[in-house]
Amino acid sequence: MRSVKQATAKEVTAGKASASKSRINLFDDPRWEDRFDVLIRLTQRTQLIKDLTGTDIRPQRIKAAIDKRLEEMGVEIQRPRGSGQTYTAKGFLSKMADKYDAAYLLGLHFGANGPGSLATFDTNLGTALDKRMETYLRYCSDMYERQEDASISFETYIVLIEGIKNHEVPMHTCKDCSTSYVWPVGSYVRHSCPVCAVHQHDVKAAKQKLEVMLNAKKTRATPVRSHLLTGSARDPA
Ligand SMILES: [Zn+2]
Ligand SMILES: [Zn+2]
Repeated sequence: MRSVKQATAKEVTAGKASASKSRINLFDDPRWEDRFDVLIRLTQRTQLIKDLTGTDIRPQRIKAAIDKRLEEMGVEIQRPRGSGQTYTAKGFLSKMADKYDAAYLLGLHFGANGPGSLATFDTNLGTALDKRMETYLRYCSDMYERQEDASISFETYIVLIEGIKNHEVPMHTCKDCSTSYVWPVGSYVRHSCPVCAVHQHDVKAAKQKLEVMLNAKKTRATPVRSHLLTGSARDPA
C-alpha cells in the first residue's frame, strides 16, 4: 500500500483495488499516480486534469489512461462535452440549493480562517490538489448518500475556488449566521444568504406542517391539542 492519502483513495475507490499489475505509470512519482487515480473518478475532463496536475503528458495519452483505469475500477466514464465551466456562465449556481452547497463547500475549504488560509496549501500543486479532493469528498459524504447525487460537481467547485482566488468571484458574509457564500456574477437578483434562506424555508415549512396537524386535531378535539396549548405535554426535564 502506498502511504499518501490512503483515506481519500479508499473513499473514492470504495474498496476496489485501484492499482492493476498491468498498469503503465504516467508519473515518475508514485504519489502522483495515486492522486491521478482519485482525480479521474472526480472529473474526466482532460484539460482540468492537466491544469490540476500540471502535467505535460499529451491529452490523448491522459484520455487513454483514464479509460483504461476506470474500466479496471468498474467505473462508468462520463467525459464532459464542450468547453469547461465558468462562473460567468448563465446558470452557474443558479439554484438556491446549489448556492447552499457552495457555501458548505467554501466553509470546508477555507475553514475558520477565511480566504487568507488558502496561501498555505496553494504553494504546492500536489498538496493543493489533495486538499481539494479531500474537501470535495468530505462535502459529498456529509451531504449525500451517493457521491453522484451531489449538486455541485468537482469541476464547479474548482472553478469556484479559482474565481475566488483571482478575486473575480466576490465572497459575501452573512450578518445573521456569519456564513461565507458566493452569488453568481452578473445575477440580477441581489445577493442574500443561501443558508438563512434554506433554513427559513425549512422553519416555515415545519410551522405550516404543524399548523395542519394542529388544525386536524382541533376538529377531532383530541387531548393532545389541549396539552400543546397548556404546555403540559412538554417534558419537564
Ligand atoms: Zn455583500
Ligand atoms: Zn445566513
